[in-house]
Amino acid sequence: MRGSREILAPGATIGILGGGQLARMMGHAAARLGLNVHIYSPVADCPAAQIANLLITGEYDDAESIIKFASDCDVVTYEFENVPAVTAKAAASEAPLRPNARALDVAQDRLTEKSFLQAQLGIDVAGFEDIDNVFTLRRALKRLGYPGVLKTRRLGYDGKGQVIIRSEPDIDAAWEKLGGDTLPENALILEAFIPFTREISIIAARGLDGSCKAYPLTENTHENHILHTSLAPAPRDNGEAQKIAFKILDALDYVGVIGVEFFEMKTGKLLVNEIAPRVHNSGHWTQNGGCIDQFEQHIRAVAGWPLGSTVPNCRVKMTNLIGEAVNQWPALALQANTHIHLYGKKEVRAGRKMGHINQTS
Ligand code: AMP
Repeated sequence: MRGSREILAPGATIGILGGGQLARMMGHAAARLGLNVHIYSPVADCPAAQIANLLITGEYDDAESIIKFASDCDVVTYEFENVPAVTAKAAASEAPLRPNARALDVAQDRLTEKSFLQAQLGIDVAGFEDIDNVFTLRRALKRLGYPGVLKTRRLGYDGKGQVIIRSEPDIDAAWEKLGGDTLPENALILEAFIPFTREISIIAARGLDGSCKAYPLTENTHENHILHTSLAPAPRDNGEAQKIAFKILDALDYVGVIGVEFFEMKTGKLLVNEIAPRVHNSGHWTQNGGCIDQFEQHIRAVAGWPLGSTVPNCRVKMTNLIGEAVNQWPALALQANTHIHLYGKKEVRAGRKMGHINQTS
């Protein structure tokens, strides 16, 4: 195994599974530290292709191709949590996989994730039930009450693969909408609808030596289930979110950056919504906060370097440029204290994340 050395020196190679904007921004950070980046992506013309030292195109379930890719890397990481288990295993046979396959396992299935958080770590989450047919769905709604949120256990993101059930007559339509009887068994989960007062997240990191650091709390707003803005440091931070994030990092023997999303209740109580074992959209503000940004932090962690400062020197509001909003760049470029980050995507599509801005104050 090439990457068995614990601390990577400049000139070493980091392999990233995935070629989207997160890989692109990790690549920028790696380049600043003198590290090379190899990208593995099914799409040749992906955002990270423009910054990679090497791009290998291949499918995520092509173990042979992944093994070849990983054998040229000193460490392998990933930009999304739906890397198939077989891929993760193949990569890990050739180079250290950071974060490890256990983190992927937990994060890619909402049921495994919630059970891990609640049963193993005693962390509060929304009430949930495993759903395998429309009868268990009806029973679960009686137990958890209305409204409920029916979600696919796997591959859901930005509100895709979920539907709110407000009352009994909605049940059949919701079941059909998510694929109902065509789905494999145990593909769905029902969650209690949480009347949260705000959505917040914490971006934290754990180094190879087990040390943990977190950025200040971030307050998030969503539009059409897609993250729209993140404000940091958020008001009213009692340190609880950070404590929870560190508990998760230690339990997973994690190396790298993690994003933990929470619902905050009127009482101040926090429920974990989900964990993302990777750099996270709500951490993009760190790029212009005057601290070591989340992308460099992740590269530092997986390369075995010490973690950098997470203390910002200003307030930052991040706004995603979604779809046509990216065409506002000429006006945005005239604004003082607005930092523009574009992802090099050629095709503008509704709902597609094309870039973001960070406005400092
Ligand atoms: P998710 O893909 O699970 O992060 O959900 C996307 C968004 O849908 C969240 O950021 C919330 O705004 C909303 N949402 C998801 N699950 C729930 C829930 N159980 N209760 C209330 N709102 C939810």
